[in-house]
Amino acid sequence: MGIRVLPPDVTAKIAAGEVVERPASVVKELVENAIDAGATTVRVEIRQGGRRLVRVTDNGEGIPADEVELAFARHATGKLVSAEDLFDIHTLGFRGEALASIAAVSRVTLVTQAASESIGTLVRLEGGELLHRESKGRVPGTVVTIENLFYNTPARLKFLRSDPTEASHALALVTSYALAYPELRFTLLKDGRLVLQTMGTGEMYNALVDVLGLQVAQQMLLVVPQKLQVVPAGTEESLDGQPATLRVWGYVSSPSLNRSNRRSLLFFVNRCWVQDSSLAYAVEQAYHTLLPRGRHPIAVLNVQVDPAEVDVNIHPTKREVRFRNQRQVFSAVQRAVRRVLINERPIPGVSARPVPLTAEEWERRRQFAHVRHPGGARMVDPGMEMQRTADREPVVVGAQRKLTGLPMLRVVGQLSQMYIIAEGPDGAYLLDQHAAHERVLYEKLKAQRASQNVPSQALLEPLTVELLPQQAAVVGEHQELLLQVGFELEPFGGSTILVRRVPAALVGKDIAAAISEILDQDAKDEAGMSWEEHTLRTLVCHTSIRAGQTLPLEEMRDLVRQLEQTSLPHTCPHGRPTMIHLSAAQLEREFGRH
Ligand code: ADP
Ligand code: MG
Repeated sequence: MGIRVLPPDVTAKIAAGEVVERPASVVKELVENAIDAGATTVRVEIRQGGRRLVRVTDNGEGIPADEVELAFARHATGKLVSAEDLFDIHTLGFRGEALASIAAVSRVTLVTQAASESIGTLVRLEGGELLHRESKGRVPGTVVTIENLFYNTPARLKFLRSDPTEASHALALVTSYALAYPELRFTLLKDGRLVLQTMGTGEMYNALVDVLGLQVAQQMLLVVPQKLQVVPAGTEESLDGQPATLRVWGYVSSPSLNRSNRRSLLFFVNRCWVQDSSLAYAVEQAYHTLLPRGRHPIAVLNVQVDPAEVDVNIHPTKREVRFRNQRQVFSAVQRAVRRVLINERPIPGVSARPVPLTAEEWERRRQFAHVRHPGGARMVDPGMEMQRTADREPVVVGAQRKLTGLPMLRVVGQLSQMYIIAEGPDGAYLLDQHAAHERVLYEKLKAQRASQNVPSQALLEPLTVELLPQQAAVVGEHQELLLQVGFELEPFGGSTILVRRVPAALVGKDIAAAISEILDQDAKDEAGMSWEEHTLRTLVCHTSIRAGQTLPLEEMRDLVRQLEQTSLPHTCPHGRPTMIHLSAAQLEREFGRH
């Protein structure tokens, strides 16, 4: 077979395959075009998962009559002028291939009217061929209707999933853009039914409410826009010689709100939706120890960088991006999210429904603090170290306490030898004694480890521990780490080891079990942690107070006080909550006192 140049209709279909994977890709391109056209309302309609019909209606600037055909020409774009513009992109589209590609594999009807013209245009294309053109009046803006997607590429049609699946992809797309563009009013209809409507107030929080619902939105934490220097001056410089700046803002979920998959991690780079696994990883890293294993946060984050610092052109659908300084963008995102999580330290509530605080409720809580804590009277635990100033505001002594954001807790008692019951200024708290102690010990151990000062103790009688061969093999590999955390282990023939020293905290505990668990590579891999992290957590787990242990009041107070001084008092190192909170308002509601 001789070599030949492919006919244009074949190359068009090949190119279309790169841009148009499924109905959601069509939705993406059309919505981006609407946004680029300056629309303030975008209405999306899909039928049968979008394979039957996708229609996007906007009130943007429209296309002038003499440019309508050009819009369907490959590499025709109204947005780029020169090759240099590629590095200074401020619009969502610029490749000029979306309409051409979509038209090649569907039946298109476009009605548009430029704001500057008195009459609009209607064109109809099939398989990329112009079939019909007429003048048509309409209000300024554009309606693009895509019907029978992939009708002429049966192989692609076969790859489409069920209608509900395709619809859910399209839906995810529109909701993503609705969140990223809170100033636009989005409407989404699926098979004639209204499924999404945003108000376009310009407030991202309102878009969250419109898209995710009030209950979820209330549990989202604001990542305040912060200007961060991406490239420290003097080391590496951006193209124009100035250190580049980066802004990260949006919302992330409080740790108590999480999902079983990563689909709720949304990123927009310069307001363009991207799927970037390293950004997702950065956010997940920020939740390190705050989420249970296998759970993922919700995030809607905008990253704004100098267009010269990012290459959005590496993927035909502009879905992936490449930053000039990937590592710094990554760490900026991680720090921004981590800062919010540490500042907020939300406490999981007993019910999934968060109780919004009314002004009266705040006032009531303030009153409560007045009445219940006037200088160590009946209600007040002397351990609380309460003082009263002239203006009768309760003041807690000790700078640490003020820093942590944990409410002042009075220990009431123990429940089921597992939980500590405490009273705070705003209701009741149940603390998991094991989880709380794990948090305390974890932070202590981390600090000791950082200062290379983990207390270790020699055993009077060396202990022999029998391991599995794979566990024994790990001992040699991690000798140094084990030494640093206080273990001195020696081979003792076969897979038996001799334990000479252990971390001081482990004395009197089940040393063999702790060592065996630390050396369990499978457990480590399953948790997806480094050896160091796995070792620290296992140690902490084995040295902390267990469930089933009766605790004297004094010990419980001690624990609560130590917990207050940790940086993340509300979760244990494994991400489980250390406490749950029954607010005064909830109690009143449950008891029908309203
Ligand atoms: P790109 O968006 O990459 O420029 P497209 O093929 O998506 O390429 O669109 C081609 C051109 O058609 C755009 O550059 C724009 O000028 C015009 N266009 C497409 N959709 C619209 C719309 N909804 N409103 C106004 N102009 C549009
Ligand atoms: Mg486009």
